[in-house]
Amino acid sequence: MSGWSDGTRAVHAGLPEPVPGAPFLPGPVFAAPYHLDPVAGPGENGYGRPDNPTRRALEAAIGELEGGAVRAFASGQAAISALLLTVLRPGDTVVLPSDGYFTVRAFAEAALVPLGVTVAYAPTAGPYPSFAGARLVLFETPANPGLDVCDLPAVAAAARAAGALVAVDNTTATPLGQRPLDLGADVVVASGTKALTGHSDVLLGYVATRDTALLDRVTTWRAQTGGVPGAFDCWLAHRSLATVDLRLARQTANAAAVAALLRDRPDVTGVRWPGLESDPAYPVASAQMRRIPGIVSFDLGTAERTERFFAASRLIAAATSFGGLHTSADRRAQWGDDTPPGFLRLSCGVEDTADLVADLTAALDA
Ligand SMILES: *Cc1c(COP(=O)(O)O)cnc(C)c1O
Repeated sequence: MSGWSDGTRAVHAGLPEPVPGAPFLPGPVFAAPYHLDPVAGPGENGYGRPDNPTRRALEAAIGELEGGAVRAFASGQAAISALLLTVLRPGDTVVLPSDGYFTVRAFAEAALVPLGVTVAYAPTAGPYPSFAGARLVLFETPANPGLDVCDLPAVAAAARAAGALVAVDNTTATPLGQRPLDLGADVVVASGTKALTGHSDVLLGYVATRDTALLDRVTTWRAQTGGVPGAFDCWLAHRSLATVDLRLARQTANAAAVAALLRDRPDVTGVRWPGLESDPAYPVASAQMRRIPGIVSFDLGTAERTERFFAASRLIAAATSFGGLHTSADRRAQWGDDTPPGFLRLSCGVEDTADLVADLTAALDA
C-alpha cells in the first residue's frame, strides 16, 4: 500500500489477492461455531466471538489506513470502554477531554470513578495540566461537538514523557484526516459509525495500535466481554470504506462553502470549522491534519429558531451522528449535553454544494 494515495488505498484496503472467479470483496461469513478438527483444535476460525474472517478483513483494511493493528468492536463506545477498562486499575488517574464526546465522560463518572479511578479533565485546545501520575491520557481531536483541535505531536510527547499511555479518539478526523499513531499516540480509539463508514446504517468501533502487548490485552478483553460486531455489519463497513476518500472530499468541500456562508451572516454566532482561516483551530489543524472534516458547528440563539430552521430546510435532516451521505444537524442540548440551546452541529453530506448552500440560506432566512 505504500506509495499510494488515499483514494487508492481506501479502494484496495483489506482485499484478498485476486483469484479468477472470486469476488473483489468476499461476502460475509455467517457462523457462530465452525467445523472443527476435534484433535488439532481450532485454527483461526473456531467460534465467532473471538474470530470471524469478515471481521478480520475489515480490521486489515482499517489497519492499513491507521498504520497499526486493529480490533473491531460493536460500537465506538464498546471500543473506548474496552481500552479504558483494559488499562485502568483502582488508584490510577485518567485525563479525558472536558469538551469531548459526552458519553465518554458519562461512562467515566458512572463506571470508572466507582472503581477508584481518578478522572481529570482538560480542554482539547488546552491549557493542559501536568500529566505527572496519569496512567492514560485520552485526546479527542477535532473534539465533538465543539471542534477544537489539540496539537497532537506536542501534547502526546508531553503525556508520554510523564509516563502516560496516549490514546486519541480519531472518530471525527478518520484515518484519512490524520494518523495519530504517526503523530505520537500509542493507541487510537474510534467510532466507525460516523464518517469512516458514512452510510448511517452501521454501528462500529475499533482500537488500533502498534503496541503488541496492549493489542493482546484488548483482544483478550474483547473475547471475554464479547462486544463484537456481526459479520454483516463488518461487511457493510468494509464495502463502504472503499468510497471514504470520495465521500470526505465532497463533505469537506461542502463544509468549506457552508462555513463561509455562516461566518458572513450576522444572525449566526459561534461558527466553528477548523478549515476557516479565522478559526482558532486553523493553525494547528492545518499543520497536523491532511483534511478537515465536513462538520461545522454554530449557534442560532434559541431552540425555537432551530425548530424554524429545520422546518424550512428541505435538505438538512434533524438527526444525531455525523459523517453520513445525507446532510444532517443535531441540536445537542436535546441530549442533555452541556451546549447552549441554539447550538447545532451540522454534518455536511455529499449533496451538490450549490444545492446545499441554497437550502441552508433559505432555512436561515426563514
Ligand atoms: C459517536 C462517537 C463515539 C461513540 O461511538 P458509537 O459508535 O456511537 O458508540 C465516540 N467518540 C466520538 C468522538 C464520537 O463522535
